[in-house]
Amino acid sequence: MSSENTSYTQLRTLMREAGTLGSVNALLAWDQETFMPSGGADARAEQRSMIATMVHERRTSARVGELIVACEHDASLPETERANVREMRRDYDLLTKLPASLVGEIASTATKAQEAWKDARQNSDFATFRPWLEKMMELARQKAACYGTPAGGEPYDALLEEYEPGARAAELEKVFTPLASELSALIAKIGASGKTERLAIKPPSIDASKQHAFGQFLLTSMGFDMNSGRLDTTAHPFCEGLGPGDTRLTTRYREDEFGGAMYGTLHEMGHGLYEQGLPKMERYGEPLGEAISLGIHESQSRMWENLVGRSRAFWMWAQPNASKMMSAWFGTQSVDALYSMSNVVKPSYIRVEADEATYNLHILLRFTLERALLKGDLSVAELPGAWNSMFETLFGLRVPDDRRGCLQDVHWSCALIGYFPTYSLGNLYAAQFFETARAAMPDLDVRFARGDFAPLLGWLRTNIHQHGRRYRAGELCERVTGKKLDSGALLRYLKGKAAEVYGV
Ligand code: ZN
Repeated sequence: MSSENTSYTQLRTLMREAGTLGSVNALLAWDQETFMPSGGADARAEQRSMIATMVHERRTSARVGELIVACEHDASLPETERANVREMRRDYDLLTKLPASLVGEIASTATKAQEAWKDARQNSDFATFRPWLEKMMELARQKAACYGTPAGGEPYDALLEEYEPGARAAELEKVFTPLASELSALIAKIGASGKTERLAIKPPSIDASKQHAFGQFLLTSMGFDMNSGRLDTTAHPFCEGLGPGDTRLTTRYREDEFGGAMYGTLHEMGHGLYEQGLPKMERYGEPLGEAISLGIHESQSRMWENLVGRSRAFWMWAQPNASKMMSAWFGTQSVDALYSMSNVVKPSYIRVEADEATYNLHILLRFTLERALLKGDLSVAELPGAWNSMFETLFGLRVPDDRRGCLQDVHWSCALIGYFPTYSLGNLYAAQFFETARAAMPDLDVRFARGDFAPLLGWLRTNIHQHGRRYRAGELCERVTGKKLDSGALLRYLKGKAAEVYGV
């Protein structure tokens, strides 16, 4: 790999160009969500669509295909670079397997299906959404057929490839099912303790500007580089890794509920720390400079939000600072009270409002049902009934209407079938990684209590961030933790907390 003009260097140059154009599009998207006046919407859609087409053409050109083949035959490439080529091949195949006509039909159907979904949810009227969901499922089946079912797998696996490369539905089921049955039992015990009302103390109203200043303080204290990132306000919080040295976070503030913004900021920060830890400058546009999967990305956000941000050690450090910067009320509360307040477990109908323990039950429900819909084992007409009966089994609650049942999420209307499992994978990976980090650094809690988060971030940088997509998620998990992903670490963590907070 000595001369400047090998196939591999040419390929890397083309990937860097596509990555650069992709960053331009990401910046346009970020601006649209944050500062763009609404009058700019039509032109912005045209701009983004044009650049997206240019990126797609660059990444799927015949030249890129030829160079990948040449690199696959280049025995002189070191192992790391071969992993880069392996992932470029994967991306190229995924991008070129779908005919443009199907991509277009999915996009235009999704636009209309989302409109129908909004009205249907508002009116809790499943019948008007039903034909659109049938259409989206049919398109998902066509998409899965184009990608091809992996050997020994099922069509759902093909859809998983877009979000969680290498994941298989049957394997997920083996991890999710025991997790759900243990969690259902734990949640029932927590409910029976009758302590939730007392633990759910209500903080006072806090100015958004004070919450924002505290959020920025958390970011800098935990290692987010503000010279390479920023925090703004949007209706729907997100993290956008625009490119090397530029990671944008957003959050939203409610004065009567500081926890939403604080935990939202910690969540997006976790995504942002991962983005900042990827070797993006050297690997701009290449797989080795990118995140492995949505599940691994989510493991980073959930770790900082939950395993760190909802710990007692976090509150030992955060309490005096919150008291100084947000409200003297924090100083009047014990660390135990703040810790309990952040870990209240209460079954509810809505996934996005769910606590750490019940969240995974929401995901198991969606994963099971969308998999059955795709297979054809469940018809769309049967969905509300199947949802409500499974919900009652898992949560012990009767769903009052479809608005709070099967119509609550946007995903199925915008073709995101196979996406839900990544949320639970995030929780599972986070717990398994964190358990390993804690075993390697037994003083982590003592450090957190002093506001020292650098050892954890350093560990994540070394073990996870720096590799980009060198390993697949399952392989990374085995390398880092010494075993395959299972539900053990997450259950130990949630049960330990329930014992401390609820005494169950
Ligand atoms: Zn997230």
